[in-house]
Amino acid sequence: RSRVATSDDALALLAEAERLAHMGSWRWNVDAEVIELSTELYRIYGEDPDSPPQAFDHFTERVHPDDRDRVIATLRAAVASGEPYEHEYRVQRSDGTIRWVLSWGEALERVEGKGRVLGGFLQDVTDRHRAEERRQRAQSQLETHRQLLEGLVRGQALPDALASLCTDLEARFEGARCTVQLTDDDAGILRLAAAPSFAETFRTAIDDLPIVRGLCPCSTVAATGRAVVLEDLRTDLVMAPFFDVAEEAGVVSVWSLPLKDRDDEVIGTFAMYRNRPHVPGEEEVETLTAAANIAALAVERHRREEATLLATQTDLLTQLPNRVRFRALVAAALAEQQPHVTILFCGLDRFKWINDSMGHATGDRVLVEVAQRLQDTLGLLHPLSRFGSDEFTVLVHDPTPARVTSMVERLHSAFAEPFLVEGGEFFLTVSIGIAQSNGTVTDAEDLLRDADAAMQAAKQRGGARHLIFDQGMRERAVARLTLESELRRGLERAEFEMFFQPIMNLRTGTWIGVEALVRWRHPQRGIVGPDEFIDLAEETGLIIPLGQQILDMTIEQMAAWQADDIDVEVAMNISAVQLSDPLIGTHLANALAAHKVAASRLVLEITETAVMVEPEFAQMALQNIAALGVRLVIDDFGTGYSSIARLSELPVVGLKVDHRFTSGLGVQDSMESMVAAIIDLGHALDLTVVAEGVETPEALEILQRLGAEYAQGFHLARPAEAAELRVALQGPGPDVLDLASR
Ligand code: C2E
Ligand code: CA
Ligand code: CA
Repeated sequence: RSRVATSDDALALLAEAERLAHMGSWRWNVDAEVIELSTELYRIYGEDPDSPPQAFDHFTERVHPDDRDRVIATLRAAVASGEPYEHEYRVQRSDGTIRWVLSWGEALERVEGKGRVLGGFLQDVTDRHRAEERRQRAQSQLETHRQLLEGLVRGQALPDALASLCTDLEARFEGARCTVQLTDDDAGILRLAAAPSFAETFRTAIDDLPIVRGLCPCSTVAATGRAVVLEDLRTDLVMAPFFDVAEEAGVVSVWSLPLKDRDDEVIGTFAMYRNRPHVPGEEEVETLTAAANIAALAVERHRREEATLLATQTDLLTQLPNRVRFRALVAAALAEQQPHVTILFCGLDRFKWINDSMGHATGDRVLVEVAQRLQDTLGLLHPLSRFGSDEFTVLVHDPTPARVTSMVERLHSAFAEPFLVEGGEFFLTVSIGIAQSNGTVTDAEDLLRDADAAMQAAKQRGGARHLIFDQGMRERAVARLTLESELRRGLERAEFEMFFQPIMNLRTGTWIGVEALVRWRHPQRGIVGPDEFIDLAEETGLIIPLGQQILDMTIEQMAAWQADDIDVEVAMNISAVQLSDPLIGTHLANALAAHKVAASRLVLEITETAVMVEPEFAQMALQNIAALGVRLVIDDFGTGYSSIARLSELPVVGLKVDHRFTSGLGVQDSMESMVAAIIDLGHALDLTVVAEGVETPEALEILQRLGAEYAQGFHLARPAEAAELRVALQGPGPDVLDLASR
């Protein structure tokens, strides 16, 4: 009895152990096709433990259909070989729930090597399986999220990042299609950010919709801040406005979640659609919520970056987008493969003078006015930027030739009225360069450079006009850039030197002095004349250091002549830009003092245009210079426009008749009376007159007759280095005209 009792106890203990371990045992008599299951195994199978022994078929019927063949095959193999085995499979209980089991078995009795009775254990490992699945899901979610954030950090565009998040979810949930929409608070609308699996019609239909309840699921979510789950949206009348759109896109069920930032503000929506009625399961809720959170994080991060970026992409003075932003806009337009991306490059003509003469504060205020007027003229459709100090650029929206033409005309006429700043009136004009991608230019930088080159060309033709870019402009622009860097290098390496052209006193026939003319001894090109580089030096401001070198070299040469007892006055050219250098007077005084040269030996030549354009500033500089005892003459007289009254206010002692007049003497009859008028005018103003560009004996004879005091020209002497002039200047004068034949 006690043995039986012990055996019962042992069985009870075993059953308890099986229960605790979720483990059941079985014994299968192969020939009888009968299988005995332990109590726990019945429980695992979801069946009554008191059932009688089962037929083998009943046992296999409970195996999940997807696993059944494999399980039977393993068992048959074990029977055939008598070898132990181990496998895992799913059990489908009669109530439909699924359990994962791990099963070990082996032959307990063998006949001729074959298993006749098999037995084994089987453990319910469902929990472990679920945990593993969850872990894998979490792992892959984490991976997706890591990829999303990493992509953003690497500069992937937000819509692309969101689109791949959608695609990722769609791959996980069969039949699902996702969208991400983001709020545009200023406009009060939802903007579509990603909908990778939807057709264009649906995308367009749900894009830019107002944030209003009931308009569509996402609008509702954005308006209320609460998730919307619609098993079948056709049954929800609130969604009626959305029915047609949904039907066309094959959208039946939807669930949409709000994306919220850390302040709990709605910043967008994340939605998952299906083409059949559907309610999200536990896994789906978990995954989509996690995805929505990560998307919100990405969006928030992106928006913060945008805000910072916006600050760095805005011009502080005018509040217009700056060049960085504009470049990005052009790049985006080009990337969108718009075939005719068109930009207008607007440069204010001679704005530099306003800045230099009126001061930067006034200049800034004028620029603000200009920006405002440009904006008013263009409206908001065409992005406008302040590209450089006095340069504005326009990206023409949807350009057609007619639209571009009328826009350019409107821009020009916007400058017809003066700009009123601090009670002053500033008349400005604008030069406009136009460049179009025409499907061939694909780089924003190239297109901008083209437009800039066209603008420069418009300026060079006198400004207040527009030009459309052509290839020659690009070549010239590149050439200019090359020249500029060469100029800088030339300044560093002191490649500049002075030539001097004698000036004759027409009364005495002797040399009165020389004009100092700069030359560039270019390492490759040899001697380069100033016509090729002075303009660029002025535009780039390089004329200031260059002018300083010219001044030093010239005064040094004056000292050398003085030491050799050669008595010449020296006329030196001063560019208008140099007059805006407040130190110009000091430089002059210092150089004269350092070389012990009397200021009275020096004459400065300035163009009348320069004097007129920046009267106040120039006058101050000129008064300072005159105070040193340096005299002034007006260069190229008759080619600019000057007010006689203003001329008489300046410390000017002479004027130079431009060679364009002189060269016509003896050729064109009318020229003689013109030159006569200029000479008379000079004399009336008490100015001595120098005629330059004298190339023929006839011209010289006429000038003498008309009463010009001095003359200069190839007929008399060509510009030359000081060493070559030495003999001539010491000699009796132009009677020894061998220099002219050089
Ligand atoms: P500019 O002041 O009118 O100088 C006179 C120019 O006429 C010189 O040209 C001279 O070589 C040239 N010339 C002299 N005689 C004749 C002639 O009989 N026929 C013709 N066709 N031309 C003659 P260059 O040296 O090439 O200078 C050109 C311009 O460059 C100058 O015109 C002046 O505006 C500027 N420049 C020259 N040197 C300097 C300088 O040191 N500083 C500044 N700021 N500008 C300079
Ligand atoms: Ca000159
Ligand atoms: Ca001249």
